[in-house]
Amino acid sequence: MARNKYPGYCYCCGSWVEPGYGHFERHNGGWRIKCVKCASGRVLTEDDPGVKWARKTVQSEIERRKTVMYNNVPTKVLTGEVRLSYVNLVQPRVNNNDPTATPKYSVTLLIPKTDTAVKQNIDASIEAAAADAQGKIWNGVRPPVMPIPIHDGDGVRENGTPYGPECKGCWVITASSKNKPQVVHQSDINTELLPQDIYSGMYARVTINFFGYNRAGKRGVGCGLGNVMKTRDGEALAGGASAAADFAGVGMEAGAPATPAYGAAMPATPGHMTYPNTGMQQPNPLGVQPGAINPLTGQPYFG
Ligand SMILES: [Zn+2]
Repeated sequence: MARNKYPGYCYCCGSWVEPGYGHFERHNGGWRIKCVKCASGRVLTEDDPGVKWARKTVQSEIERRKTVMYNNVPTKVLTGEVRLSYVNLVQPRVNNNDPTATPKYSVTLLIPKTDTAVKQNIDASIEAAAADAQGKIWNGVRPPVMPIPIHDGDGVRENGTPYGPECKGCWVITASSKNKPQVVHQSDINTELLPQDIYSGMYARVTINFFGYNRAGKRGVGCGLGNVMKTRDGEALAGGASAAADFAGVGMEAGAPATPAYGAAMPATPGHMTYPNTGMQQPNPLGVQPGAINPLTGQPYFG
């Protein structure tokens, strides 16, 4: 079992654990620390090889981090290519739990677990945000179990239901902002994309920024949304639910032709759309009728 590289509280006895004085454990998509004393009864000193290793590792990570830190902001990350889900980038979304709150722009990032470099940057940025908040807004005390905004797409949500199939093999982060993000294509970063080119299922690189919060005594680390650079189109996701589930039977009414199954081959007829930034032609991804409104963006599917 690995020693802890970051300090924190022991989840058994609650004592503060300096780097190397405890064991690091993966827990619910995040991590937690058990002090060596709780784990084995041993009392460590600064001469312990594990403590020396942790101090050295932390120092080298800080040095490495200086070279990869985005815009020199320790809490900011530019992701690699991720798939976007629950896209609310064109219009802000009203919070159903608090309709009086300012509507926010938001997007869920599906980060391939194979992108270990970005995951390390995210972990370090969350740690930087927590360290900052500890001194500034948490009165020097970290939450014993710190809520963090990154989740394991292979696991289950807080309510116990599994994540959708599009989350398999991914880390899942939802980022939001009151400010409208700029959404551009990597082929032209100076021109904002049209609403119909922004949808759940497309791929992009995204700037995000982690911050500590203290809301009515609830403390944790959240994820703010910066800007979005589309890298390529992808099979459309209807907000995480499959289009087949959302549109099952829709095309059956009034003698209309049946809606093709999600992912099924599309007829070589109207409904083709052109992606101005790529010159690529893609089949109508949802099999929707011309003029239909995308429930996620509130915009027509086809401009
Ligand atoms: Zn302990």
